[in-house]
Amino acid sequence: MNRAFYVTTPIYYISGNPHIGHAYTTVVADVLARTARTSGPAFFLTGTDEHGQKVANAASAAGKSPQQWCDDLIPRWQGLFAAYHVRYDDFIRTTQPRHERAVQAVFERLRDNGDVYLGKYEGWYCVADETFWLESKLVDGKCPTCGREVQWLSEDDWFFRLSKYRDRLLEHFRSNPEWVRPRSVYNEMMALLEEGLEDFSISRTNFDWGIPIPGGGGVIYVWFDALLNYITAIGWSTDDARFRTYWPASVQLIGKEIARFHTIIWPSILFALGEEAPQLVFAHGWITVDGQKIGKSWGNAVDPFALAERFGADSMRYFLLREAPFGSDFSYSEEKIAQRHNSDLGNDLGNLLRRSLAMLEKYREGIVPPAPGESAFAQRFADLPLRVREQILDLRFREALEDVWELVTALNRRIDDEKPWVLAKSADDASARQLDGLLYDLCEGLRWLAVLLHPVMPERTQEMWRQLGLVDGIDRDWSVLRWGELAQGTRTLPGDALFPRIEFVSS
Ligand SMILES: [Zn+2]
Repeated sequence: MNRAFYVTTPIYYISGNPHIGHAYTTVVADVLARTARTSGPAFFLTGTDEHGQKVANAASAAGKSPQQWCDDLIPRWQGLFAAYHVRYDDFIRTTQPRHERAVQAVFERLRDNGDVYLGKYEGWYCVADETFWLESKLVDGKCPTCGREVQWLSEDDWFFRLSKYRDRLLEHFRSNPEWVRPRSVYNEMMALLEEGLEDFSISRTNFDWGIPIPGGGGVIYVWFDALLNYITAIGWSTDDARFRTYWPASVQLIGKEIARFHTIIWPSILFALGEEAPQLVFAHGWITVDGQKIGKSWGNAVDPFALAERFGADSMRYFLLREAPFGSDFSYSEEKIAQRHNSDLGNDLGNLLRRSLAMLEKYREGIVPPAPGESAFAQRFADLPLRVREQILDLRFREALEDVWELVTALNRRIDDEKPWVLAKSADDASARQLDGLLYDLCEGLRWLAVLLHPVMPERTQEMWRQLGLVDGIDRDWSVLRWGELAQGTRTLPGDALFPRIEFVSS
């Protein structure tokens, strides 16, 4: 029996407009959830991180209250995910009362057990990153992450007793060498652990845009608040049965730059609460343009709305998963997207559907002929569905798509090799049977492709399904997918090209 699958994206800092990197992480989570859901319960959480000084500053610069400022940005974020055909189960906002109450409950629980205590904080603080830095970590006296000026803070603060969990965390890293991937990030985090961990401040008194500390004394540090979303959303402290169903999370997707928060601080908070660490934290690579990490300054060059509009959301989803192994950085260009769209999707897959249905129309009036029975061809692909599912759930998307493409290629080759236009001209029964068998396998293969590619391209595969004359079942369990299930007599409905060619003119 499969455990319930739970996947999260980072909750996105709502300080500006989304870029293609946000679409990337969220699409990956969506593909995982859709694939897992074919064999059992799955839950996919995303959302927005809305507290902290950076949000308060941005709101005040815009002449709005922080809450109003966040409320005004939310449609842009939710609209992005809709534009990329993302179907999440829950969208948490850290300003929601359900989250705020649970975060306060965590604070009280840890204060009661001594893992949160009152102390004095003095140190360097980067406002932009909401991060404290040891003097030794500063670069030329500035924030090592963003290069901005840091401020000296001195105040009475509530601390989280991170140091207490260092040994347990080291043990956890050693006995679960795959719990942080890729390996480079695991090694980096191990090095930090070996240096030792210091308790850190989780209260702020210099501004008030955050969750109030129970009993007064400022607001809770935004990272402490934000990390908890992964458990507050699924019912920690309010719905124990639901929480036990989904926790620990199966996969938590993050960007490399927030690995320290998610693989050192987050599991320690969980340990303090008596909960388990997530099963896998995966730090994916960055999308780069000319080797540089994209960010706000790239503006419209990487506007994810414009890209989905131009190439189609499903083509973008395919590109993001197919172009580079998940985990490594990859260099993005519109030319590369256009190539994938025209070649893999248009020529290989789209033409396969168009040619197959056109021949079925011409030679068999669009009606699926009888299945040919046991065949070496069906045998060859019998294990494809389970292999692909395993690859996807192991975040090897590129490999999974390459394997699916072997079926695409094999079907195209059969058309070239068996020459249905020649078979159709000869009058003997053997040719007619061979043509039946070929046309059947083409339609059945396309049905399989629609099922296996559905998590990656949810909308275009529905169109394939419709053209194949099918109605329900595209999201069926892959472990019971059998060659030969396509019913004889199905009336296909050829339609428009799946992936119309896009002319790319380099500027
Ligand atoms: Zn910084």
